[in-house]
Amino acid sequence: MSLRLYDTATRSVRPLTPLEPGRVGVYVCGPTVQARPHVGHLRSAVALDVLHRWLLASGQRVTFVRNVTDVDDKIIHDASHDGEPWWALATRMARAFTRAYDAVQVLPPTAEPRVTGSILSITALIERIVERGHAYASGGDVYLAVRTVQGYGALSGQDPDQLKASEKAVAHGHTGEKRDPLDFALWKAAKPGEPSWPSPWGPGRPGWHIECSAMAVAHLGESFDLHAGGVDLLFPHHENELAQSRCAGHPFAQHWLHHGLVTVAGGGGEKMSKSLGNSTLVEDVLQQIRPQVLRYALGAAHYRSPLEWSPQAVSDAEAAYGRIETFVRNATEATRGVEPGASKASWEEFAAALDDDLGVPQALGVVHSGVRAGNALLAGRELPALAATLAVVRRMLTVLALDPVEQWPGSGGTELTAVVDALVAIAVEARADARARKDWAQADAVRDRLTASGIVLEDTADGVRWRLGT
Ligand SMILES: [Zn+2]
Repeated sequence: MSLRLYDTATRSVRPLTPLEPGRVGVYVCGPTVQARPHVGHLRSAVALDVLHRWLLASGQRVTFVRNVTDVDDKIIHDASHDGEPWWALATRMARAFTRAYDAVQVLPPTAEPRVTGSILSITALIERIVERGHAYASGGDVYLAVRTVQGYGALSGQDPDQLKASEKAVAHGHTGEKRDPLDFALWKAAKPGEPSWPSPWGPGRPGWHIECSAMAVAHLGESFDLHAGGVDLLFPHHENELAQSRCAGHPFAQHWLHHGLVTVAGGGGEKMSKSLGNSTLVEDVLQQIRPQVLRYALGAAHYRSPLEWSPQAVSDAEAAYGRIETFVRNATEATRGVEPGASKASWEEFAAALDDDLGVPQALGVVHSGVRAGNALLAGRELPALAATLAVVRRMLTVLALDPVEQWPGSGGTELTAVVDALVAIAVEARADARARKDWAQADAVRDRLTASGIVLEDTADGVRWRLGT
């Protein structure tokens, strides 16, 4: 594997070197399932899906762990406000996230641990940190003693002495007393009417940061290859995850990846968040645009750049993806049965772009120059070169989950797909019967009527297949 990735901890692009050659362990901070997902959540998922797919394409075995925060202050608050059990809200929203990920072809994680299913590993980790003298109990809470952590602040580039003044110690909702304003809760004592679990310090629930340390170690071990998340999580979340894991004696992540956030046009470049009131819900967006175009729009920028969500960005994605679709459709049609010659598209250039800190904009540039070269070959009827170029372009598109043939047949796999399958099968049989009778006019008429309905038949080695198109 020759992938080099920017590492936040060292502030440099450096090789991702798996602890065990051939296997990569990735931990991603997943969503807090409080509300339905917006495009900001999906940008994160798509950016990390490209990483996941590129690791697989590079021949690695990947353990991809993305947690679900299914209990926290906001979930409890919102659910009680609507008279719904907190766990019912969390379950409903977790399902909405899964639907959104599936809609844009984000590969499922290897494991998707939930906080409520990880309480025992969380309390065991806290006990270990207390035993090693880095945390203390107070009034049923447990706090990490930040001043005992060597190098606290180094990951996010903060000076603890500066933090003391600026960081408002998030005192709200805590029962116990902190010894230092920098200290943060690993365990929070139960409050009346709130969910709680038994612990050596009395009933309560985990603080936010500790859950990721516990779930990462439970699935990937005390030392693992890569920790990823949004740049908004760098401080305090990731700084605190790292601090408490080191306090437990765990080397923790070898490489830290942070992706940029989504901004909304007209929002002054602010991070998209629910509090700004400009959230764009995935389910609403998918009423307006096709999922493959949403995937393209969210995945086209470099993962470390902010991504501006705007009508212009969507129509640019629609146009760019349309050029890809048209090329793949026309080239497939033209090269059926043609022996491939020499490709005009360069897989090596594409691979080099992704290996260089997941340079998706450069990789898409290689895809589009392959498409342009392919269109020229098509115009000149240079079919062997076209067939080879098409194959290379489609191999690139598969890595980006943008291949119109394999990954996006039809319009996104609705339940109607099965119905259309059955109806097309009837039409295909009618066409085969007509051909058997050598009634070519009737066979062509069947095909033409399907085409007029927007259904294109393709004769493949596996039989006749259909897709939407013209
Ligand atoms: Zn986390």
